[in-house]
Amino acid sequence: MDFDLPPDDHPMRTTVRDWIAANPNPSGRDLAEAGYVVPHWPAPYGLDADPIEQLVIDDELSRAGIRRPNNQIGIGWAAPTIFMAGTAEQHERYLPRIFSGEEFWCQLFSEPDAGSDLANLACRATRDGDEYVINGSKIWSSGAHHSQFGILIARTDTDVPKHKGISYFIMPMDADGVTMTPIVDMTEAHSFNQVFFDDVRIPVANRVGEEGDGWRLAKVTLSNERVSLSSAGSLWGTGPSAAHLIDLIREHGELTDAILRQRAMDVYIEAKLLELNRFRSLSATLRGETPGPEASIQKLMADDHGQHVMELAKDLAGADGMIAGSGPVGVVPDAMQGAPVENRRRLGASAYPEVDPIWHHGFLFSPALTVGGGTFAIQRNIVAEHVLGLPREPNVEKGMSWSEARSLAV
Ligand SMILES: Cc1cc2nc3c(=O)[nH]c(=O)nc-3n(C[C@H](O)[C@H](O)[C@H](O)COP(=O)(O)OP(=O)(O)OC[C@H]3O[C@@H](n4cnc5c(N)ncnc54)[C@H](O)[C@@H]3O)c2cc1C
Repeated sequence: MDFDLPPDDHPMRTTVRDWIAANPNPSGRDLAEAGYVVPHWPAPYGLDADPIEQLVIDDELSRAGIRRPNNQIGIGWAAPTIFMAGTAEQHERYLPRIFSGEEFWCQLFSEPDAGSDLANLACRATRDGDEYVINGSKIWSSGAHHSQFGILIARTDTDVPKHKGISYFIMPMDADGVTMTPIVDMTEAHSFNQVFFDDVRIPVANRVGEEGDGWRLAKVTLSNERVSLSSAGSLWGTGPSAAHLIDLIREHGELTDAILRQRAMDVYIEAKLLELNRFRSLSATLRGETPGPEASIQKLMADDHGQHVMELAKDLAGADGMIAGSGPVGVVPDAMQGAPVENRRRLGASAYPEVDPIWHHGFLFSPALTVGGGTFAIQRNIVAEHVLGLPREPNVEKGMSWSEARSLAV
């Protein structure tokens, strides 16, 4: 790490503080218009902020307890793709309300038979004059039931190799023919859905980029997804972190069990390594270099780490941890057990406000960390092939999909 954060009286900090003093309770729109939602973006959306300025803005906003709009898929994944390949009309129509959080977005990529092998997707978009007619189904669509729009990839051509026949669309979730069924996961939260499209008509103006260019654009979305999922925090950047758990252990007093103490040290060390790895990427960016292997291994390490933190939190609760709804009793101070949600949230916010963000939820959610945004196996394949330079999977080399290869193996 070869940088220092500016001191307390640096103009970079005082500018943000002055703005906060003038806007003590900013709305999403206030933050978006000030460029504080995506400071690294160019104007009019951001401030062209370099990584240090971004860190300072993050720091000052969080010190003042100000949260950015919670629209992860919109801000982190849809917006960069629309900005890169969308028309001026699409920029003007969608980007400001994505950043202000006034319109919430979901991602309509995965299908029952297309997850890791996403290019296998079957959802069809058939051109009919100035419209496309969409038929098919998407699954695991997080937050689709709260969303105004979704980024959708669908097959526009079945006569070309599968990667080439895919296009990228903006789907209004209130269009005629869009229905969905909730999927309740084991945290008992309804965060996913299966979404069905029956003769849904959307204008050609809702296509992003050229027809057939959807796979390239989907990869842009997925690379942003993998980067943003690997930011700080145990549950894809949200929820309590190793530092919170260590603080609670300290508050509780000495940890006498040698194995639990060792595991607490392990999660502390993992968290430090992840932090240093993030700083390494940041140093590379500041030197004008593209982050290398450290970016690829960040998600891999962060996902495992999240599971370790949550498993330790449960085990620290002992037998009480087996009771649904209980947190790590004896680690979360008693006073917090029945505390109002707002107080408990000091441990970190969930992406879904209806879900209890504390350890029990985190423990039940944590297996998802190594599945969503690319499974642990896919991440390892990426590191093996693109970082270590190992040979590609032989069957994929021959043009065979993973699912075809898998069906041969059984
Ligand atoms: C919390 C969460 C939120 C999600 N949100 C969304 C969303 O909003 N929108 C959306 O479109 N999708 C979403 N997903 C779906 C997610 O993208 C898929 O679950 C993921 O891509 C894996 O696909 P799959 O579930 O079909 O598993 P599969 O691809 O069927 O994988 C099954 C198993 O096979 C292994 N495997 C597959 N291919 C290989 C290979 N080449 N080499 C070795 N092993 C392999 C996998 O590692 C896994 O263990 C979400 C998932 C989760 C967990």
